[in-house]
Amino acid sequence: QQASKKLGIALVGLGNYSKGQLAPALQETQHCYLSGIVTGSPDKADEWKTKYNIPEKNIYNYENFDQIKDNPDIDIIYVVLPNAMHKEFVVRAAKAGKHVICEKPMAVTVQECDEMIAACKEAGKMLSIGYRLRFEPYNREMTRFGTEKVFGNIKKVIAENGMSDTEGWRLNKALAGGGSLMDVGIYAIQGVRYTTGMEPIAVTAKEGPKKDKDRFKDIEDSLSWTMEMPGGIIAECKTAYTNEMNKLRLEGENGWAELSPAYPYKGIKGETSNGKMDFPEVNQQALQMDAFAQAIKENKPSTVPGEMGKQDVKIIQAIYEAMRTGKKVTI
Ligand code: NDP
Repeated sequence: QQASKKLGIALVGLGNYSKGQLAPALQETQHCYLSGIVTGSPDKADEWKTKYNIPEKNIYNYENFDQIKDNPDIDIIYVVLPNAMHKEFVVRAAKAGKHVICEKPMAVTVQECDEMIAACKEAGKMLSIGYRLRFEPYNREMTRFGTEKVFGNIKKVIAENGMSDTEGWRLNKALAGGGSLMDVGIYAIQGVRYTTGMEPIAVTAKEGPKKDKDRFKDIEDSLSWTMEMPGGIIAECKTAYTNEMNKLRLEGENGWAELSPAYPYKGIKGETSNGKMDFPEVNQQALQMDAFAQAIKENKPSTVPGEMGKQDVKIIQAIYEAMRTGKKVTI
């Protein structure tokens, strides 16, 4: 690959995230651009074709998707579908000989993650997960605080992410794979992992009361869980679909740091026991996609690989087991 050439990305699934964040971000990227789309909605195809100047030959649906293998304009396939569809489309993308970005959560079971990683490996293609906050300055600073022991040894991490409402496939277990933990609680898991630079050893979990038993028939509305980290560090986490929460806090021997809100696309704020944090606002998605395109061009591993996504799914499944059994589950 020529270093100067922008790599072509095709977005699969033109829902809210593709439309509101990824396509606009792809107008700002330096190393990649929006070259194609895959959609089950012909009306969206028409709209996007005009808006983003996408040639007809780079527009696919879920049936003829595999023909992308013959399209040199598309280097990377970005899967932005409901969670339970990620595996199928990542595997098909790899078989079509393309690099892949997959949205979070990577998949709904660990076995699916293994199949996705294996398919990309077999095809000799790279796989990355849409962890945009790994490229965001405030969240990166939390990594520095934690891993460089800026506030001494970490004693505790508090990570909470919840929204006040949700709808559509997210309420359907077959498509979502779970409830608020899968969708937004995963940011708290990530937050703890990058703040400590460590992996949880064991988890305990407790489901919260369901405010609406019909809507949350098959999935959890809210959940609180504790992760035991190496060295006696405790991570206290919460998520919900009916309660706005957005926090990542580190408590060290000599001070603390807190992001609140911690995980949005814009408007992250941070404070420490030494004063306010101040970083420029970035386009997280543009940085994330550019980093992957650059990794491909330079033949370097992705900093947010499939294995990172798999580890989160593994932790999520352990939390669900702890929630169901009421017992501590080791990871
Ligand atoms: P939406 O419901 O807004 O969009 C999903 C799209 O998938 C639909 O518009 C549709 O696109 C396509 N689709 C295909 N089959 C189905 C089906 N059976 N039911 C519903 N949609 C279907 O979801 P989001 O865009 O919010 O989320 C998509 C993925 O992105 C999820 O995995 C989510 O977790 C992730 N996400 C990540 C975020 C982040 O910050 N990293 C933020 C938001 C979401 P079409 O009509 O084109 O076929």
